[in-house]
Amino acid sequence: MQRRPGFPARLPGSGAPAPRPAGAGAGASKGAGAGLGQRAPAATAVGVGLDSAAVRNRMVQKLAAGGITSPAVLQALATVERHRFVDSGLVNQAYEDTSLPIGLGQTISKPSVVARMCELLLSAESARPAGLGRVLEIGTGCGYQAAVLGLLAREVYTIERLRGLHDKARDNLRPFRLANVHLMLGDGMLGYAKGAPYAAIIAAAGGDAVPQEWCDQLAMGGRLVAPMAVAGGQQMLLVIDKTPHGLKQSVLEPVHFVPLKSGIA
Ligand code: SAH
Repeated sequence: MQRRPGFPARLPGSGAPAPRPAGAGAGASKGAGAGLGQRAPAATAVGVGLDSAAVRNRMVQKLAAGGITSPAVLQALATVERHRFVDSGLVNQAYEDTSLPIGLGQTISKPSVVARMCELLLSAESARPAGLGRVLEIGTGCGYQAAVLGLLAREVYTIERLRGLHDKARDNLRPFRLANVHLMLGDGMLGYAKGAPYAAIIAAAGGDAVPQEWCDQLAMGGRLVAPMAVAGGQQMLLVIDKTPHGLKQSVLEPVHFVPLKSGIA
C-alpha cells in the first residue's frame, strides 16, 4: 500500500499542459482550465520535445533496468518534471543520469542517486506498514528531490543554507503546489528540531561525521541516509537505523556529493 499525497500538476503521459503558476486559487480544482496561451510557451520552453513525459518514462525505464524496484519511487520520478528545476540551457540534459549545476557552486543530484536514496528510505522498518511519515531533507538545492519526496512521504521538511537556492527552490516548487513540502532557510547540520521526530532524514550534502542532532531527531524505527566521508576521505552512502537496541549503521556504495557546510550564507 502506498501513501502518496496528490500531485496536482499532471500525470505522466497525460500530455497535459504545464502546471499553472501558483496563485490561481489554493485548493481550487486541479488540472482543468489552465490558462489559454500557456500551452505554447510552456511546450517551447521545455526544450526536450513536446512530450517530456515520454523522455521521463525512458529515464524511469533505465532506472528500473539499473536496479530500482520500488513502484512508488519509479512513479514519483516519472511524475516530477526534472527539467523545470534546471536552467533553460540545461533542459536537454535534464533526463540524463547526470548531476547538473544549479548555481552557487551546487548541483542537482543524479536521478539514479535520488531514486536509490528514496528507495532506501521507503524500505526502512517504520515505512513498511503505513508508508513514509515525516521526512527531513538536508540541502534543498533546487527543490527537485524535495518534490520527489513530497510524493512519497506524508510531510517533507527541507532545509537549505544558501538563501539564493532556498529562493530558487521556492520558485521552482510553486507551480507544483505540494502542500506537504515545507521549505526552510537554515543550517541543516543542526537538523530541524521543530519538525522532529522524523521517520526519515536524507542528506544531499556530505560531511565528515553524522551530526548528533540528526540521530536525536530521528524517530524510533526511523532511517537516516546520508553521504559521509570514511577513512581515506572517500565519500560513501551511509544508512543509520534507529532501533530499540541503538543505532545500526551500514556503509553502502561510494558517492559524490557537494560538501555539507555550517552556517547560513
Ligand atoms: N536535493 C538537492 C541537491 C542539492 S545539492 C536537489 O534536488 O537539487 C546539496 C545542497 O545542500 C546545496 O544546495 C548546499 O547548499 C546544501 N547544504 C550544504 N550544507 C548544508 C547545511 N548545513 N544545511 C542546509 N543545506 C546545506
